[in-house]
Amino acid sequence: MTPISPVYANISSVVSKYSWKTPKSLQKPKEIDFQKDMPWVRDNVLTTALSEINDLTFSTDDIRYMEGIGIHLPFKSGKECVDFIEKENIRLYFAKPYEKGVHAQYSFDKNAIMINKKYQNTKDFAVMLAIGEAILHEAGHAKDKDGQSSIQEELNFLGMNAVAHRAFIRKYGKVFSNSTAPIVADGVSIYEKLFFDPDPDKRRLIARMKEKYGDLPSGDRLHPPGKIARAVLQ
Ligand SMILES: [Zn+2]
Repeated sequence: MTPISPVYANISSVVSKYSWKTPKSLQKPKEIDFQKDMPWVRDNVLTTALSEINDLTFSTDDIRYMEGIGIHLPFKSGKECVDFIEKENIRLYFAKPYEKGVHAQYSFDKNAIMINKKYQNTKDFAVMLAIGEAILHEAGHAKDKDGQSSIQEELNFLGMNAVAHRAFIRKYGKVFSNSTAPIVADGVSIYEKLFFDPDPDKRRLIARMKEKYGDLPSGDRLHPPGKIARAVLQ
C-alpha cells in the first residue's frame, strides 16, 4: 500500500474530526473473526449463515407486535445470538437428523446445533439465510439448558424466526420467493405468514402448531403458556 502523504493525512484527520458519528445502535456489528472466535466453524455455508445473522437487526415494531400476542424472543438481535453461541462454545455441523424431515436440531448432550445434511454445500443463498434462521431457533433451545420443550417455547423461537425472516426480506427483497427447498418453503417462509396473519385469533398458526407440536405441554417453568399456546391444546 502507498504510504499516506502528510497532506492527505492532515485532511483525513480533519474530515474524521467533523464527520457525522453514527450512533452506537446503528453501527454495523463487528464482523466475526472465525479464526479467533469460532475456529471450529470451517464450512462456507455455516460461516455465511453465521455472518448473516450476526449482521441482522430486528425491527423494534416487529418485536413489540410479538410481545402483544404473547411471544417473547430469546434474542433481541442476531448478534446477541452469535455472541451466545461463541460464549457457550456451541458446535455447529451438518448431520443426518434423528427424524426424517427435520431441518435442524439442538443436541443438549453434545451442546451442538445440527443442520440437515442435505443442505451441506448448498449454493442457494436463500437456503443459507434459512440455515441462519434455524441456528437462531436452535440457539434459543440451547439457552434454556433443560433439553425440554413446550408449545410456548416453540412459539417464542418460531416467532423470532418470523421477525428475522422479515428482517432478511427488508434487506434482500424477494430473496426467498424462488426457493423450493423445504427449509425455506415449508419452514421459515410459512411462519412469517402465520405469525403476521391479520386474523387476530391466529387460527392458522394454532392449527399448524397443533399439527407439528401438539404432543408437547402448552408451557413450562421458563415459558408459561400464553393465549395462543393454550389454544393449541384446546
Ligand atoms: Zn424448536
